Amino acid sequence: MDLSGQLAKLFKPNERPHPAEAELSVAQGAANTAKDFDWLDRNIPCQKACPAGTDIPGYLTAIAEERPEDAYRINLRDNIFPGILGRVCSRPCESACRHGYEGLGEPVAICASKRSAADESPTDPVILEPYFPPTQKSIAIIGSGVAGLAAARELALLGHTVTVYEKHTEPGGMLNQGIPEFRLPRDLIQQEIKQVIALGITLHCGVTIGTDIPLHQLIDQHDAVIAAAGTLKPNQPNLPGQTLPGIRHGLDFLLEAHTSGTTVGKRVIVIGGGYTAMDCARTARRLGGQVAELNDGKLLIAYRRTRDDIRVIPDELEELDHESIPLECSATPLAYLETDGALSGMRFQRTGTDETFELPADTVLLATGQTPDTDWQQNLTHPNLFLVGDYATGATDLISAIGHAKKTVTEIDHFLMGTHRRTPRVQVQTASAIGRTEAMDQLPRNAMPTLPLEQRTTTAEVETGYETPAALTEAQRCYRCNYKFEIEQDKCIKCDWCLKAKPHENCILMLKTITYDDAGKATDWESTERVREMNLIWINSDACTRCGACITACPVDAISLQKVTLTHENTGEPS
Ligand code: SF4
Ligand code: SF4
Ligand code: SF4
Repeated sequence: MDLSGQLAKLFKPNERPHPAEAELSVAQGAANTAKDFDWLDRNIPCQKACPAGTDIPGYLTAIAEERPEDAYRINLRDNIFPGILGRVCSRPCESACRHGYEGLGEPVAICASKRSAADESPTDPVILEPYFPPTQKSIAIIGSGVAGLAAARELALLGHTVTVYEKHTEPGGMLNQGIPEFRLPRDLIQQEIKQVIALGITLHCGVTIGTDIPLHQLIDQHDAVIAAAGTLKPNQPNLPGQTLPGIRHGLDFLLEAHTSGTTVGKRVIVIGGGYTAMDCARTARRLGGQVAELNDGKLLIAYRRTRDDIRVIPDELEELDHESIPLECSATPLAYLETDGALSGMRFQRTGTDETFELPADTVLLATGQTPDTDWQQNLTHPNLFLVGDYATGATDLISAIGHAKKTVTEIDHFLMGTHRRTPRVQVQTASAIGRTEAMDQLPRNAMPTLPLEQRTTTAEVETGYETPAALTEAQRCYRCNYKFEIEQDKCIKCDWCLKAKPHENCILMLKTITYDDAGKATDWESTERVREMNLIWINSDACTRCGACITACPVDAISLQKVTLTHENTGEPS
């Protein structure tokens, strides 16, 4: 290519105004325009998908750089329960991960990596620094499940005085009552709850609001009250024979299995297709004998939709298969069957057809969902009463409940203090390299090691966690989507060397035209294959896997590299 006439661009001064059409509003420092937040949302899909907004590339980088304690702290700050979520999160981030895009392999094992950071960090409580000094505002929280505790942690960091009321004898809600120990060790639950309580939170267990203390009294005594009472009212399908003994709700069954102990009959049907159904079935499998033994029709899950409709992570379904628990899909329950006054089976309809069939059972576990039990609230509403987590939204999952709690706490803090005291910012830092190699892109996803079937019991944790080498290579797989490669148009001499070096068809494009909105954000573009039609060369960051090939190839340093991070700053004085 003839470079005459272009060489002058080499001598462009580095100190020049930041172009309005740049992808971010600043080249360095804190940014806060819609364009900056939009860049984060489009470019870091895992963080966008996490309801708690976890800085996933930040902590994966820390793991890859052998700083697991830093990775743990990043998670702790963002999602409050890293060790717990590292085991039982529903992982919306992994479905969104760029590494899972078509042709790019499998998503990064984000959740298992979070766990590895927790496993490799000391078990001493990590106490975060509060954002603000004490405010003298007092908040009561009803319920100590993840939503209540997440709200408590966030409010305590904001300087408020927090008292949590729990009707059960120990805190944790669903963590203790709904999730089996073979998926979530109890000492870990206690350890991570202790970290929250250690921020100066007062916890009263065995106190039922509405019975021991009237709700209106709590409202009178505090500046705000949060109801985070979860969803404890089981949905009961209205079927003939529903009062027969042997029909139990899944959550009651799981709670008994974890506390006083329980038994199951010789033939068990679990109804449902969510995590509770899986947990009931795997617990019943253990109570019914050795997991390694032949199931032989003793236990199955009946689900009214198809296997593809089941709302659990793929690993969970794999473990179901591994533990020989069959799924009877497209099975809509019609009736319980009775023989001599006892439960003897269920009749089903093949969903979407007229076909009916019967299956034998002496135990039926109903995992058909639950709703908030609002009786204790007695329709009382008040401007100082806020609903949080599943109690507000209906049954979701742990990370959604945490995300909802964080969001609501922001509103409560504004309500109490009259100003937004924590403001999101987009922090932009010039970088020289990402610290990855091309070989890292080819690494396969590390499988989670598990216990052999013959060692599986109601308490032994099935997933045993990555060894250190697997934790490192898994974290190295992350592309670091929090880095931005951008061609500085006034430096680019359109030599096309980056186009020759690029690994993906559309990560760098020759453009005929590009349209920007008033904020300088690219809204539309027309690419071309013909050099003579090309007006600029442009990095399509949606398709960029941050390999760095272009920056290495560029002969005139026309490609800039920046690290982009979502932060929160203390702003605004209380009124
Ligand atoms: S590659 Fe890394 S930063 Fe990008 S979406 Fe996946 S986990 Fe997130
Ligand atoms: S860093 Fe450059 S070459 Fe690599 S994927 Fe991104 S745009 Fe393409
Ligand atoms: S950005 Fe690409 S086309 Fe522009 S000067 Fe660098 S290598 Fe050449």
